[in-house]
Amino acid sequence: MFRRWWFLKVAVPVPVDPAAPPTRREARARQALVLGEWEALREHLRGVAAERVTAAGAVFRAAELHLQSEESAARVAYQWALEAYEAAGRLLDHAGDEDTDLPDLAAAVVMAEQAVERLAAAHLLHAGKRPGPLQVRCYWNPLHGPADIVLAPGRGRKARQRRHLTPREAAAERRPACRSCRTAILAGQTPDVLPALLPAKAAPGRKGPVLVPYFAVPRQWSPWSTTACGAYDQGTPALVLSGEHRRNAKR
Ligand SMILES: [Zn+2]
Repeated sequence: MFRRWWFLKVAVPVPVDPAAPPTRREARARQALVLGEWEALREHLRGVAAERVTAAGAVFRAAELHLQSEESAARVAYQWALEAYEAAGRLLDHAGDEDTDLPDLAAAVVMAEQAVERLAAAHLLHAGKRPGPLQVRCYWNPLHGPADIVLAPGRGRKARQRRHLTPREAAAERRPACRSCRTAILAGQTPDVLPALLPAKAAPGRKGPVLVPYFAVPRQWSPWSTTACGAYDQGTPALVLSGEHRRNAKR
């Protein structure tokens, strides 16, 4: 779904003289192409986020928990799950806002899915069992499945055996990657990265909109670029519910 935005660069008309700046008509055509692609992706993601939030709501209604006061671990997990679900709904409520970008909607999907995961953990704790940690999501596109977990360099026998990594192997292990992104990187291809619209104030001097990988947006303009759309930060539900995630959102 997201792979094709990379081709926008080659889809724009090439000026006769490559050194010459694009004409106004060419610039307008390029802007329309970028915004059209962005709006199509946003509409698609809005549908995905709405579907995930609805599905999470159904799970919460079917699996409500009534905890005793001494069940503090289950209570913490349940509270976090409820807040993550509420945060997902809050992000979705703003889906139609002018300044809502693709990572905001990806964060709604992440929050809805992590809410369900954490609700399951609360149920396990309530049943006296020990839940595992939350799944580590793909850094390149947090909408993907869980990352293939690899040992950090220097830890474990396998890691020691793999000390001599090729540049592609090193690139694939630099960030948590799902199987598909990992395969793409190992093959020297671009993974299916989630794009974002670069805020105009983050790119002074640039005329018109531009799509970049979501993690390339400077962090002062996006709360999502360093946290895989909130997936790597347990403070995300609180951040969204306080409204802090929108502090620098105006473009
Ligand atoms: Zn991936």
